[in-house]
Amino acid sequence: MPLLELNNIGKTFYINKKIKKKALSEITLHFQNTGLISVVGPSGCGKSTLLNLIGKIDNPSEGKLIFNQKNITKLSELEAAEYRRKNVGYVFQHYHLLEKHNVQYNLMLPLLLNGWSFNKAKKKAKSVATSFGINKDLLTKQCSLLSGGEKQRIAIIRAVINSTRIILADEPTGALDINNSIVIMDTLKKVSNKCLVIVVTHNIDLAYKYSDRLIYMSDGKVIKDESIANNDNEVCPKKANKITCHPNWYFPLLVKNLCKRMKRNVFTLLSLTICIFASMMVFGFVNGSNDSIDNYAKKQFNYCVLKINKEIQLINNNSPIILINNYRLNNAEINHISTLFENCHFELCYDALVGNVPIVKFNDEQIDGISFLPIFSYLNPAINNDLLLYGRIPNFDNLNQIIINKKAYIYLKNLLRAEPLNSFLYVESNRAFTFYTENPNTPYVTDFFVFGRFMEIVGVVDEIDFLNTPKIYYSYLAFDRYMEEAMVNNLSMVVGETSWKEQVAKATGNEEISGYSHYMFLKNGKEVNTVRELVNSSDKDFTISSSAIEVEDALFALVNAASIGMEVFLLIALIGTTLIIGLIAFASYSEDIKELAILLCLGARRDDLVSIYLFESTIVGLVGTALSFVLVLLFQNPINYLIFRLTALPNLIDIPFQQFYGRPFLFPLLIAVSTMLICLISTCLPLIFAKKISLSEELRSND
Ligand code: ADP
Repeated sequence: MPLLELNNIGKTFYINKKIKKKALSEITLHFQNTGLISVVGPSGCGKSTLLNLIGKIDNPSEGKLIFNQKNITKLSELEAAEYRRKNVGYVFQHYHLLEKHNVQYNLMLPLLLNGWSFNKAKKKAKSVATSFGINKDLLTKQCSLLSGGEKQRIAIIRAVINSTRIILADEPTGALDINNSIVIMDTLKKVSNKCLVIVVTHNIDLAYKYSDRLIYMSDGKVIKDESIANNDNEVCPKKANKITCHPNWYFPLLVKNLCKRMKRNVFTLLSLTICIFASMMVFGFVNGSNDSIDNYAKKQFNYCVLKINKEIQLINNNSPIILINNYRLNNAEINHISTLFENCHFELCYDALVGNVPIVKFNDEQIDGISFLPIFSYLNPAINNDLLLYGRIPNFDNLNQIIINKKAYIYLKNLLRAEPLNSFLYVESNRAFTFYTENPNTPYVTDFFVFGRFMEIVGVVDEIDFLNTPKIYYSYLAFDRYMEEAMVNNLSMVVGETSWKEQVAKATGNEEISGYSHYMFLKNGKEVNTVRELVNSSDKDFTISSSAIEVEDALFALVNAASIGMEVFLLIALIGTTLIIGLIAFASYSEDIKELAILLCLGARRDDLVSIYLFESTIVGLVGTALSFVLVLLFQNPINYLIFRLTALPNLIDIPFQQFYGRPFLFPLLIAVSTMLICLISTCLPLIFAKKISLSEELRSND
């Protein structure tokens, strides 16, 4: 039974899908188990194509190919790889060794690809090399440093080392001088005692001298098939090889590739590291900014002071205009809300009388742009005494002493060119009010709220700077007392003695006095958020306002806008990095195409080859992730400190390294997994496209 049968084989190449090139036609040849068979003929007659078909580098267009009684005409890519790995050894004119690797690794490759352990393969490579007379020193030499003759001998040993049944040699002596050619033909002859050796050659003399059979080809056809000497027909002893391919063979390749592309890999590593580092920082910013701003915003002297009222819409069916009236909360509402908070004071708001921007004068000169805001009491434990920067907090509630914030201090200092602390400001408010009296003779009375007094700046508080405005703080209790004592003069003449406080307390929506609000003085800052939640969840149209909350909201809006901006840039950077990784993997693959073709010839699977690049990217990804973790751990605190120095926002970047959604180390794990995915996908996608190149074309490239 012949080992190999070619029945009526033909091969047509299509160039641009239209032009056909018939490289082989009607080839019928049978080959026995052993012997050296030479194929000769002019260039372009189809010799190499014939070898490629036998070696399953290419598929025939017509006919049948039988190996060991099995039809192998059409094999899947995986089956062809297995066929090559187990049954075929190649020897090429240009050796096709892995030039960057040493002799030993080149010899070990077919064994490793067949699942041998590294150590066993090393031993076998040494013993086979010795049996072919290869010097031990040569084994550790890099292949690119060998002579042509040495390279070809190594190529032959590599072809036979796995005891394959067929050796295909394409012009094995084509690049060698006569002496080396003889050595090579001797070696092939020796090999042909144990397996089938098919040699394509131009050298008829050598072919005649060494071959058992000579096949002459011309124009894609066999024109003569001549036996020269008797074949031994010795059957090559072949063990059933059930070993599956083990990936241990590509680790040396991987290491070499990493070193070979060191600069490129470092570049990828850097861009990946920067990208992961930036991603974590942006995430830390998004994660930490809320808490940071929350804590930061509490650094306001009047943080616990809220103005609360009810909005009532007045809808007139005949008019498209909707009027909104602000009313005070009624007693039931006040009582209900008060019970929800610890130590909460509801007090009347006098803003409609005083306004929070009254006229402020220094030495008769008017100063604009300073707000005039209450705190409950200088003695209230709820106020943050820690904020005091200069001066003192008054030790009793009086209207003659005020506190200013740092913004106001700097503003006044620049404006007055004098030290504001212990200076006197004159604060005045003059407004006319008309009251309804129910007295038919004088139904309306107009009175004037006149307030004016010198106030001494006794303390400066170090509030947040960012987005804050100049502020003067006065004691509400002191002002409330003043309102109790100050008389409404014209109205008193009609209705009897009445104070401004009484009037404001009595005021209803029909009267022009009062802003119809209450002040809510809370004990601690945390309760401010609870009030906000309560107001939002209530079905009543309660509204709250506070200068401190306005600053806080402005900060949140700013940070949210910054987060969105950063996320967009980050996305662009991520896409860029993914493209870089993909491009570099593709470039590396294209660069190594010849090496990969050699590996395919030796029986490596394409998937394994892709794995080499996936591994390379994975290693880069892993190192990048580790590096970025180190960078984040190193830089998070200094960056936070810098931000704190510039904006006073504490711990703005808070990367949840240890706990994320209640699970320990979930965040670094997620980052590592996503990085790996990015690396794998960005490497895989371009290589999937690259896979479509045919093996025979790959072998021709760089030849
Ligand atoms: P030989 O080895 O005898 O010099 P080949 O087998 O390499 O010849 O080529 C036989 C013919 O087939 C040549 O004309 C060659 O140009 C053509 N040929 C070989 N491979 C391809 C291919 N992949 N695509 C197109 N034409 C090819």
